[in-house]
Amino acid sequence: MEMKKAIVVGGSIAGLSCAHALIAAGWTPVVIEKSAAPPDGSPTGAGLCLDPQALRLLNLWIKDSNLLHSSTLPLSIDLNQVTDSEKKISWDLAKDENFGFRAAHWADLHKIIYKALPANIILCGHQFISFEVSDDKAAVKVKSQLFETGDMVEIVGDLLVAADGCLSSIRRHFFPDFKLRYSGYSAWRGVLDCSGQEHAEIISNLRKAYPEFGQCLYFDLADRTHCVLYELKNKRINWIWYINMPEPELKGSSVTMKVNDEMIENMHEEAEKVWVPELARVMRETKGSFINVIYDSNPLPQLFWDNVVLVGDAAHPTTPHGVRSTNMSILDAGILGHCLGKWGSKNIDSALREFQAIRLPVVSEQVLHARQMGRMKQGLVSFNPKEATLEECLLLLQRSMPYFEGVPFPI
Ligand SMILES: Cc1cc2nc3c(=O)[nH]c(=O)nc-3n(C[C@H](O)[C@H](O)[C@H](O)COP(=O)(O)OP(=O)(O)OC[C@H]3O[C@@H](n4cnc5c(N)ncnc54)[C@H](O)[C@@H]3O)c2cc1C
Repeated sequence: MEMKKAIVVGGSIAGLSCAHALIAAGWTPVVIEKSAAPPDGSPTGAGLCLDPQALRLLNLWIKDSNLLHSSTLPLSIDLNQVTDSEKKISWDLAKDENFGFRAAHWADLHKIIYKALPANIILCGHQFISFEVSDDKAAVKVKSQLFETGDMVEIVGDLLVAADGCLSSIRRHFFPDFKLRYSGYSAWRGVLDCSGQEHAEIISNLRKAYPEFGQCLYFDLADRTHCVLYELKNKRINWIWYINMPEPELKGSSVTMKVNDEMIENMHEEAEKVWVPELARVMRETKGSFINVIYDSNPLPQLFWDNVVLVGDAAHPTTPHGVRSTNMSILDAGILGHCLGKWGSKNIDSALREFQAIRLPVVSEQVLHARQMGRMKQGLVSFNPKEATLEECLLLLQRSMPYFEGVPFPI
C-alpha cells in the first residue's frame, strides 16, 4: 500500500514529535522549518519540565530511554514558598513531594528528538508561505521559500500539520482576526552555567538557601510577582521572573524581546530588593538574560479543517504556569499519530475528528487553568501569599492542573 505523506510546518518540539508519531503510524512526514539549521544550543532556549506521559512517548520514539534520562534531572518536588522582601526570608506555602516530572534544557531536548529522526525528512531554511487544499479535499499543496536562494518550492501531501508556534500563520488563515491575549506580565529569564569553578560558591550558597535544589521545581512568591527556579543537567540554574507591566512592543516574529544593558542593570537592582540575596546573585551572574512576553489565547473552537490540523502552540498558546506547552505538544503528536494509525490512510477525516474530540476539551481546560494560576501568582486577582488559605495553597500546586494524573490517551 502506498504510504501517505504529511507536510509538517515547524521543526520545534511539536513538529518533530509529530514527525516521530507519523512515522510510527505508517506515514511519511516531511518537516519544513524556517531556521537555517537545527538550533543547537539556541540562545533563546532555557528550561522546561516534562511530565511522565510525555516522557513515556518520547522514550517510545527515541528508542533509548537512557538518553533522555541522562540528559534531564528529576523534579520530584513542586514547592511554592513566600518571600518576605524586606526581611529577605522565605517559608513554605504548598509542597507536593510526589511531583514526578523531569527538567530538560530546550536545546538538549530538541537535539535528542531531532537526532532520532531520519535526517532527510527535515528541510531547514524553508519558510512556509501558503497552502492550498485540492477541490476533492484529498491533497494539500504547500509553498515554501528557500532562505538561501529565495526560490519557491512546492510540496504536495495528503495532510498538513501546522506546528508553526504561537504566532502561527496557518492558524491566521482560518482565524484572520485572531489576536493573542497579553497576560499583563512579561518574564525575565536566563540560565546560569555553573559548570566552571568560578561559580562554585554561587551554587553552594544557593543550595543552602534552597535545600531541595536539584530535585525541586521552586516557585517563590512575593508581592504581585513570582519567580521560578530549578536545576538543569550539567550544573545549570534555570530561572524565570514574572513582572507585571504594560504590553511591550514586539518587533519581528518572536515573543522574545530585545534587551539592553540598562534594562538588565535595572532588573538586577530590582531583584536585590525583592528576592533573597542568593537568588538575586544568580540573576546578576547570568549572561544573556532575555525577556519573554507572556501570551495565551482563549480556546479555539476547532483544531482541523479538511486535511489541515493545528498542533502545539499553534493550536493552544498558553501561559507557562502549568508547565504545559511542551507536554501538550508531545501529547498532541502522540494522539494525532494514534488516530491516524487507527483510522488508516483512507479515513483522514475520521482520524482528525477523533483527534479534535480527544484533545480540544483537555487543552482548553489546561490553558484556562494555567491562566488562573498565573493571575494568582502575579496578584492580578485578589490573592496575598502571606495570608493564603489552604484552598488557595492547593490551587498553587501543579497537581491542581486538570488531568494532572494523565490526559485521556486511547490505547
Ligand atoms: C528556539 C526556541 C527555543 C525555545 N525555548 C524554550 C524554553 O527554553 N522553554 C520553554 O518552555 N519553551 C521554549 N520554547 C517554546 C516551546 O518549544 C514551545 O512552547 C512548546 O514546546 C510548543 O512547541 P511548538 O513546536 O508548538 O512551537 P515553537 O517551539 O514555537 O516552534 C514553532 C516552530 O515553527 C517554526 N516556524 C514558524 N513559522 C514558520 C514558517 N512560516 N515556516 C517554517 N517554519 C516556521 C519556528 O521557527 C519554530 O521552530 C522555545 C521555542 C523555540 C523555537
